[in-house]
Amino acid sequence: MAYQFTDALEGVPDVTPRELQALRAASYETVGDVLLRVPRRYEDRRSTKAIESLVNGETVSLLVHVYSAGWRFSYKRYYEVSVGDEAAPHGARLLLRWFNMPYVAKLLATGMNLSIYGKVKEYGGKLTMTNPDFEVMEDEDAGHRLVEAAMGGIPGDLPPAAESVRVHTGRIVPIYRGISGLAARRFRSLVWGLLQQLPDDVPQPGYDVAPTYPFRQALQDLHFPAAPEAHQKARLRFALAECFARQFRVAWRRRRTQARRGRVNVTTDGYLQELLASLPFRLTNAQARCVDEIRADMASPHQMNRLLQGDVGSGKTLVALCAMLLAVESGGTAAMIAPTQILAEQHFNNFRRLLKGMDIRLSLRTADRADDLGFVPDDPAEADATPRLLVGTHALLYKKSRPRNLVLAVVDEQHKFGVAQREKFIAGGECPDVLVMTATPIPRTLTLTLYGDLDVSVIDELPANRGEIVTALRNPANMKRIISFMQGELAAGRQIYIVAPLIEESEVREQAAATTEFEKWRGIFPEEPIGLLHGRLSPEEKDAVMAAFRANETHILVATTVVEVGVDVPNATVMLINDADAFGLSQLHQLRGRIGRGQHKSYCILLSTAKAGEPGREKLDVLCRTLNGFEIAEEDFRLRGPGDVLGTAQSGLGAVQFTEWLTDMRLIHRAGRDAAAILDADPELRLPQHAPLRALIAPETEQGVTA
Ligand code: ADP
Ligand code: MG
Repeated sequence: MAYQFTDALEGVPDVTPRELQALRAASYETVGDVLLRVPRRYEDRRSTKAIESLVNGETVSLLVHVYSAGWRFSYKRYYEVSVGDEAAPHGARLLLRWFNMPYVAKLLATGMNLSIYGKVKEYGGKLTMTNPDFEVMEDEDAGHRLVEAAMGGIPGDLPPAAESVRVHTGRIVPIYRGISGLAARRFRSLVWGLLQQLPDDVPQPGYDVAPTYPFRQALQDLHFPAAPEAHQKARLRFALAECFARQFRVAWRRRRTQARRGRVNVTTDGYLQELLASLPFRLTNAQARCVDEIRADMASPHQMNRLLQGDVGSGKTLVALCAMLLAVESGGTAAMIAPTQILAEQHFNNFRRLLKGMDIRLSLRTADRADDLGFVPDDPAEADATPRLLVGTHALLYKKSRPRNLVLAVVDEQHKFGVAQREKFIAGGECPDVLVMTATPIPRTLTLTLYGDLDVSVIDELPANRGEIVTALRNPANMKRIISFMQGELAAGRQIYIVAPLIEESEVREQAAATTEFEKWRGIFPEEPIGLLHGRLSPEEKDAVMAAFRANETHILVATTVVEVGVDVPNATVMLINDADAFGLSQLHQLRGRIGRGQHKSYCILLSTAKAGEPGREKLDVLCRTLNGFEIAEEDFRLRGPGDVLGTAQSGLGAVQFTEWLTDMRLIHRAGRDAAAILDADPELRLPQHAPLRALIAPETEQGVTA
């Protein structure tokens, strides 16, 4: 019986109903789902070392025999198993120790054979391994080991027939991430079995990126490589397929937007000049350059699609406002969408102040507050008369408040919106120019992966009038000194943010933690007006809390990460972050970006008990060392890996399995070239061999202009 990728696991005879249940619970439905599971690592079990020859500090995979097992106690209870070479009952021993894993005792017993993997350490003259990975070898393996022993333990001397049936020993063995309810070796056997039943010419699902490397062979190399390098070659093929899919979408999108003829929007600079003349400061060189880049885009007959990147506090909002003023010179509406009510209000109030006396209508549209501020709701008759700026939240996406006659669409903190939402927003005009902004810088390589379809402007300079920011790591035990320092800042008229410990499980618990923190500080500073901000407040309550802090009516603001994004209160100079090691690096950088926004020296105090070398400590050191957001982004990437950074920080990127190549420039360029070649030759994807590519862009075409 031969399987196809799309066959349901239900039809596979040797999968028991219980196994099927476990597989399904982990979202494995088809043969392809199982075969596309990527091994986490590999163990080379082609030969095993003798226990005697082990060296302190080496990481090895071994086949061993259990000679005794039992509970031990020193400063902690642990389970200890004494193992040695199977054929050497009186030979050298290695002690395997499991801490905090009581279930191990139920799995291991004297007389078993194990495959183990871990780091050898010498303690008091004894060789040990702490919490090693292990697998109990069952009878089916015993035969092979005997054969192997009989042949002097030399791999490769085995007859090929024997080699071909080995799954768990005597070869390079794949190790997968665990699936609850399914033994590791059972999953491996399943992969092995399915692979054997796969036709040689099984096609790659979707578009085949490397037709000269047969897909069936690539799967074999991925799961059961014949040599240690073979899996690299296979992984590269799969990574290329993944990368190609992404780059193809990017190329498609880019061509589509370039083909759209935008309109020539910029004629004069009147409003912009008026604004610049009224500012108490000058644009930084970087801001001025970005405005020029935007102006050039707007003046061209193509639709602008530009990403504005800049470090926290670099003044992205002002650049966006300049762009909006340029856009409305020719009539029409420029709209900015922000991810939260707090931010939309802040931008609105800011713009209102900056545009005072100018002949421009400014309105705010949020879910429930359009006219609270005394602004006339939209009058369709008047819609095209006066140039107008519109600021809003997701409310702008709904039909009845979608802007009309949109000439420029600005998306603030763009990673908080999905591609579909972006499209919907843009649909409010006929090919409006588009400017998107990110909250924190991202590594350059990632910009290509995520935003390859956009042109990029970077504000790589902070305004000159900024006070210094000092970042310090402090143990909570020193709270007395911290409090007296805060007292000094308050006495000097400054304001303070206090970030409550991070609680991710629920907003309710987060609210409780923030409230506790709030009560604590009311006790410490009974004379000071203190505000409390968390995610469970209504939009009105949040606005009131922010407005009071901005107006310096409250001097301390206890907050959750709600303050993370974009909030701008230049008089605030201290930020105290509880349990700082629990936050992500980019998140901490964003939080710190709330201070150092005025001319006063500012202080970011990271509270943590993490010692050097402990998890969570390294990122705090990075933060103390640099203020540069681009550098921090690179470090975050290095510390957490691209998968995690992307997973939490960005939306619009599907599941990535081969994250190690996510930022590989050669791969990205190769995929980009392949995609371009295809689209040059067949722009509408009409050729039959390009049919699979249509599936790649299907979600793009659906996310449409309607609804
Ligand atoms: P971000 O890039 O983090 O969104 P903002 O746009 O909120 O930064 O700007 C931070 C602060 O810097 C604001 O108070 C803004 O008015 C001020 N600002 C912007 N540009 C300049 C400049 N060229 N010189 C001085 N201050 C500036
Ligand atoms: Mg901002």
